[in-house]
Amino acid sequence: MDFEHSERAQAVIPLVKRFVEERIVPNHQTYRDQLVGGPDWTQWKVPPIVEELKAQAKALGLWNLFLPDSEHGAGLDNRDYAPIAEITGRSFLAPEVFNCNAPDTGNAEVLVQYGSEAQKERWLKPLLAGEIRSGFAMTEPAVASSDATNMQATCEVEGDEVVLNGTKWWTSGAGDPRCAFFIFMGVTDPNANRHRRHSMVLVPRDAPGVKILRMLPVWGHYDEPHGHAEILFDNVRLPVDHIIAGPGRGFEIAQGRLGPGRIHHCMRAIGAAERALERLCERALHRIAFGKPLVNLGGNRDIIANARMAIDQARLLTLKAAWALDTKGVFGALTDISAIKVIAPNVLQQVVDATIQIHGGEGVADPELTWLMVMARALRLADGPDEVHRGMVARLELKKYR
Ligand SMILES: Cc1cc2nc3c(=O)[nH]c(=O)nc-3n(C[C@H](O)[C@H](O)[C@H](O)COP(=O)(O)OP(=O)(O)OC[C@H]3O[C@@H](n4cnc5c(N)ncnc54)[C@H](O)[C@@H]3O)c2cc1C
Repeated sequence: MDFEHSERAQAVIPLVKRFVEERIVPNHQTYRDQLVGGPDWTQWKVPPIVEELKAQAKALGLWNLFLPDSEHGAGLDNRDYAPIAEITGRSFLAPEVFNCNAPDTGNAEVLVQYGSEAQKERWLKPLLAGEIRSGFAMTEPAVASSDATNMQATCEVEGDEVVLNGTKWWTSGAGDPRCAFFIFMGVTDPNANRHRRHSMVLVPRDAPGVKILRMLPVWGHYDEPHGHAEILFDNVRLPVDHIIAGPGRGFEIAQGRLGPGRIHHCMRAIGAAERALERLCERALHRIAFGKPLVNLGGNRDIIANARMAIDQARLLTLKAAWALDTKGVFGALTDISAIKVIAPNVLQQVVDATIQIHGGEGVADPELTWLMVMARALRLADGPDEVHRGMVARLELKKYR
């Protein structure tokens, strides 16, 4: 195992750190003040500070750092990008400022790897320029979507058109006024092998028949102006060249898409856990109860030690997964990727829970701690629930004995 960063990564990491500390974090409140949110998503507006910070990051070359492809992206591999994702995990705003936000990152990777030249020109170019945003429409309310082969929405080829029908939900990013397209997963051939039944189709958000029904709340928050939408695709007709890589490749693309995305999510979760631990320690050292700082009461030192040990273990395993992905590809890294997808969000949840507890009543009212807790809990479901990933780790373990 080799966790050494390339020279380019060694140069970029301190720049990202400085940018986050000096320009992004001081603007968190500006962002909150400028945000136009609330239940009516049609009124949502992107705070102007986002585009201002994006322009500054782009001018410094701190842009598309997630994309290993050196023609379209920064040319950093997953090992190189992992510490950058960790730094950006400390701020709810940072991933977007560097154009490294989900689900655009995964969608860009799909287009780089599987898109035609025309698809790249129309969708990838503006996405990587930060001019538009996108959504990934796989999960459906009607079926257990932990199993990607379950999807029932259809995308049937009729002559030189593909016709989409079905309802999707949890399409993250669909509420953003800049969201221009979705990658939709549906059945093209119900009689094919279950791994060849589905296709992925590029759908303009304003295509006739696309109806955004509502934005789903996450513990009462809409995550505006990003949003998580329920969308009806009602007889949406598109030219057949909107299918990515041709019919029947949907499952294959879904699998490839999620490998790097999970490393990004997990490293951001580790950065978020570091931020939570900082808050925990600061509070424990300075708040006095029963004549002593909280840190000297009960088992609070054990809580701090356990958090440090858990975060460091999660980071090492995530770096191992990044190394495996870089050197062996997605199929050589399946155990590690599934393992970290369970471990990192759970570590974050455990640390944030302790941080909230040590803050007493203030802990449940603090916007940063609320954001961290929501992120941890949602991440235990998004991109596959814990149980599915544990199932994968167990399956691969047992395979050794057959
Ligand atoms: C905030 C958020 C953002 C999301 N963003 C997106 C997005 O952008 N695009 C998108 O397509 N989807 C998105 N999702 C959806 C997410 O990927 C799904 O919710 C997830 O895959 C689970 O699918 P499901 O909700 O249908 O749950 P189900 O498949 O019905 O599963 C429910 C529960 O059953 C249990 N279970 C399932 N399988 C197993 C198993 N093998 N072993 C044991 N127990 C099992 C688990 O406890 C699981 O949580 C998002 C979800 C959230 C919460």
